[in-house]
This record gives sequence, structure tokens and C-alpha cells, in this order.
Amino acid sequence: MSCFRVIYHEPVCPDCGSSEITEDEAETGDGLTETALTCRSCGTAWPVACVTDWTATASTPAPSATPSLTRR
Ligand SMILES: [Zn+2]
Repeated sequence: MSCFRVIYHEPVCPDCGSSEITEDEAETGDGLTETALTCRSCGTAWPVACVTDWTATASTPAPSATPSLTRR
């Protein structure tokens, strides 16, 4: 039996759910380039980094400002 399995993470458009996604290099404006995904069906584009941001935000609670008023 073969337990070798390739898990291919296929990007899906968050707008229309299409899997016709192309990868593109996009400038963020800070002189950096990051990989952006573009939907070939509806044209929606989103940065790949946002996907990891979403999971990080979902696992961690919202950053609450510590109510520590330090007065002099
Ligand atoms: Zn789409």
C-alpha cells in the first residue's frame, strides 16, 4: 500500500469560488514584491500573505489595548 500522498494546496477565489487562479508578482509599495493571486474568472486579486494573516487572526484573540494608565 502506498501512504505517500501529495497534498496540493489549490488556491480558490474567495469571490466566485473558481480555481482558475494565476500567480503574479505585485509590488507592495515598499520596494518589495510579493506573490499575488489573481482569479482568471472574475479578476479578483489578493495577496498570498493575507491568507496566513487570516489564520493567525483567527487563532489569536483580538489585541486589546492594555488598560494600564500610567500617570505621573
Ligand atoms: Zn473569482
